[in-house]
Amino acid sequence: MTSTTATLDVINPANEKPIAHLRRAGAEETDRAVADARAAFPAWRAVKPADRVRLLRRIATAVEEHGEELARLETANVGKPLGDSRWEMGMVADVFHFYSGAVDKHYGDTIPVAGGVDITFREPLGVVGLIVPWNFPLMLASWKLGPALACGNTVVLKPAELTPMTALRFAEIALEAGLPEGVLNVVVGPGSVAGERLIAHPDVAKIGFTGSTEVGRRVMEGAAATIKRVTLELGGKSANVVFADADLEKAAGAAPGAVFGNAGQDCCARSRILVQKSVYDKFTGLLTDATRRFKVGDPEANGTDMGPLISASHRRLVASFVDGKSMFRGEIPSGPGYWYPCTLVEASNTDRVAREEVFGPVAAVIPFDDEEDAVRIANDTPFGLSGSLWTRDTARAMRFARAIETGVLSINSNTSVRVATPFGGFKQSGFGRELGMAAMDGYSEVKNVFMSTDG
Ligand code: NAD
Repeated sequence: MTSTTATLDVINPANEKPIAHLRRAGAEETDRAVADARAAFPAWRAVKPADRVRLLRRIATAVEEHGEELARLETANVGKPLGDSRWEMGMVADVFHFYSGAVDKHYGDTIPVAGGVDITFREPLGVVGLIVPWNFPLMLASWKLGPALACGNTVVLKPAELTPMTALRFAEIALEAGLPEGVLNVVVGPGSVAGERLIAHPDVAKIGFTGSTEVGRRVMEGAAATIKRVTLELGGKSANVVFADADLEKAAGAAPGAVFGNAGQDCCARSRILVQKSVYDKFTGLLTDATRRFKVGDPEANGTDMGPLISASHRRLVASFVDGKSMFRGEIPSGPGYWYPCTLVEASNTDRVAREEVFGPVAAVIPFDDEEDAVRIANDTPFGLSGSLWTRDTARAMRFARAIETGVLSINSNTSVRVATPFGGFKQSGFGRELGMAAMDGYSEVKNVFMSTDG
């Protein structure tokens, strides 16, 4: 069994200074967390539904009370603008409010059968392992924690090594709010050790994973050995499709936020901007102007739209997608910090920048002829997470919505997530759904019980 005791330096990517030194967990610590979660499971599943409702609501309220503290911690660790972090912490609280209300509204069926009564129960799975990435650390964790706890599971949460701060603080806040010891356990360790151990552990019933498609594939392989349940929320290469009949000013004004938000480190980034040829010059002019106005700088300053990338190595990867022929490159601050400018690149859908997930502030702008061409290009990708469509033709909007191979689509908007609506991918963007009542199905088993009514 591997155990590493090395120290983990957590860095602020906006100034490259350490914000914490943590002990890096290995397989032994992961095993201990699983054992604690297992020990806590019988009592947690037995908590009366009304009490679980109150407890999850108390966690939601505690997150609201600590919202500013958590937002500042997230910004210091991820480098995202403070306004973005505040919005994310608001969503974390809303997620717990929603799933507190879901506890006693997620129930089985009675099914007409001969000779008796047939009923189904929604049973918790047991211990679930939740593995999350560094781009929206606490928000993505909450999307899994909310339904997992509401269904009566206990949890081992493994945040990304780069961004563990808010997960650790959240666990303390949840404990203070009354969550029993052992119900939520946080393990800060490398994916190759702590993550792999969760995937292999016989006492872990499910892995709820958000991250890259590459690691998602590994999660699926590893889970096969113990037939673990898996939910996979993976990468994306979403299209933002602008038809000639759209409100071009509105579509162009909104496009930078949809791809450069969170410095492009967003699974839903609309990183392929598809523009109808008849308005290509007009639209790209408007898009360039809007991108020029997208403010890159100190994440803690008012009015900042975009901060730095997460690390130096990630910046090298992002830069490898741009070979110098950009349509537009924005400004970045000088001095320390992993900065990369907002970049627009004219591309064909076969170029690497249009095929692979850049996960940085680089948008591929691609012309198309007509509706058929737009659908073909939008679907010509192994991914299928999200996307947008801009048109004033409602019939076309509905035709396109049915034809596009993505789990989420927004029409005349770039928003992808709402607490009450299902979120997840088609194709290699993963499977299973988060948020809304759909997520409750992913954290429970259906048990079917028949009782004879014969004499
Ligand atoms: P990643 O796949 O490298 O890491 C994600 C998590 O998996 C981290 O906690 C990491 O430590 C862990 N991990 C790494 N190797 C592992 C292994 N062998 N076994 C178990 N766990 C392992 O992803 P990342 O770089 O942190 O995040 C970026 C990726 O996440 C992008 O591809 C992005 O699209 C995706 N993402 C998807 C969604 C979604 O909801 N679909 C949301 C956000 C991010």
